Amino acid sequence: MTTIRNNLQSVHQRIAAACRAAGRDVNEVTLLAVSKTFGPDAVREAHEAGQAAFGENYIQEGVEKIALLAGLDLQWHCIGPIQSNKTRLVAAHFDWAHAVDRLKTAQRLSQQRPEGLPPLQVCIQVNVDGGATKAGVAPAEALALAREIAGLPNLRLRGLMTLPEPAPDFVAQKALHMRARALFDEINGAGVALDTLSMGMTADLEAAIHAGSTMVRVGTAIFGGRATSSAAPAA
Ligand SMILES: *Cc1c(COP(=O)(O)O)cnc(C)c1O
Repeated sequence: MTTIRNNLQSVHQRIAAACRAAGRDVNEVTLLAVSKTFGPDAVREAHEAGQAAFGENYIQEGVEKIALLAGLDLQWHCIGPIQSNKTRLVAAHFDWAHAVDRLKTAQRLSQQRPEGLPPLQVCIQVNVDGGATKAGVAPAEALALAREIAGLPNLRLRGLMTLPEPAPDFVAQKALHMRARALFDEINGAGVALDTLSMGMTADLEAAIHAGSTMVRVGTAIFGGRATSSAAPAA
């Protein structure tokens, strides 16, 4: 077996164990393989091991990989920040956008989604911890943004995404993820239907699953470590 195949199996075991411990059905949690900084061969290898959904942070890099792998039946998620001059690329090439945190970005994605493609699946990034990256909408503004995005054509609002600062242990990690969960419940309760909580990465996927995550975004545990400079958020 290849390393990537082994790693995927380990991650699936972690997800299954966390679901058992949390009393959840394992089918409620989707694994998104974060392939940023890794080449098309790594994606191909993961696909051969049964992985279908891939996440990319850096839009240009993602678009190049998507083109190189166009022959495979893959689902592509843009999980990085989307500057205004990149919305057209995201709308044209990706299936999902996770880090939408402004109405302006959503409007551009809606206008620029090419005809003939299914709606772009969208998550609102929420800044649950006031983190240093400052990406994401403040929790108090999430419901209003969700209402606006839900009304836009060519998009389908799916849920919330978080990228909190690393927390030291399970309890602290879960407390952060529970803030997103509470917001998710509140927005659903207000009548804007959400089905996706995109949260949890290599270091905290168990805590995220306990808090209700439906999509964990895992890079390192599948593909290995990244060079530090490339792992920094895109400017
Ligand atoms: C890099 C990245 C991940 C994956 O992180 P790992 O710790 O390598 O699992 C998940 N989500 C986002 C937004 C990322 O940028």
